[in-house]
Amino acid sequence: MNLSLEGRTYVVMGVANKRSIAWGIARSLHEAGARLIFTYASERFEKSVRDLADTLEGENNSLFYECDVTNDEAIIQTFENIQNDVGVIHGLAHCIAFANRDELKDEFLNTSRDGFLTAHNISSYSLTAVARASKPLMSEGGSIITMTYLGGEQVVQNYNVMGVAKASLDASMKYLANDLGKHNIRVNAISAGPIRTLSAKGVGDFNQILQEIEERAPLRRPVTQEEVGDTAYYLMSDLSRGVTGEVIHVDSGFNIIGY
Ligand code: NAD
Repeated sequence: MNLSLEGRTYVVMGVANKRSIAWGIARSLHEAGARLIFTYASERFEKSVRDLADTLEGENNSLFYECDVTNDEAIIQTFENIQNDVGVIHGLAHCIAFANRDELKDEFLNTSRDGFLTAHNISSYSLTAVARASKPLMSEGGSIITMTYLGGEQVVQNYNVMGVAKASLDASMKYLANDLGKHNIRVNAISAGPIRTLSAKGVGDFNQILQEIEERAPLRRPVTQEEVGDTAYYLMSDLSRGVTGEVIHVDSGFNIIGY
């Protein structure tokens, strides 16, 4: 089987800086020979995304587009632009989430209506919006992945509204997998263990969560961006051609631990 991604093009959404999980995914896909298309939330991120892409070794013909996923027009326009520029894509990594920082601590009970809607809009609905807009570009079949977390399956202290948004994201992923399977487009989620990123800093007591992984996860260590990236590579490659609607935990096994 050909495991190379040469000749294939993937959209990576959500690189903010070198710690971003999306950047780990971009590196793994690049190493496998893929062409990359980066989208970023606003002009503010453009330079750092371009600078990071410049550090990729070997042939680098990446493309860059601004795409704020709260804006339907922007999403449609972005994928029309990508279609005009490259024609076909073979997959998309959705690595986007946001919740108000003051709602990622204390009790979920205090979640505001606005905070609830914002978290679900950016972290969950955006997957459906980008799946719909990118579908015409995956005319040769494709693979969509999104990033989720254990806090969508079980109560994780302080994760609060983001956990509820991840539960919605996980369910959306399954419904999308069912809708898109007949077009040979697979949709899966990677449930990553905690990794110190810009977004993770917003979650209260994040250091304690990491410490618990070191003490109780079967592998007794946190996972790395690279490990998540390589699972994304698997999901983008033909190795996973029979897998869709699945949540793959890349979390040092922490999700199997009870009390
Ligand atoms: P990150 O802060 O590097 O990435 C989050 C990205 O979301 C940023 O690039 C940000 O610009 C983007 N974003 C926010 N609002 C947006 C908008 N309106 N339009 C477009 N983009 C927008 O953090 P990360 O940890 O790499 O997060 C990536 C994904 O991984 C998220 O879905 C997150 O929930 C998930 N995840 C993270 C962890 C962790 O511990 N870091 C664990 C499991 C899952």
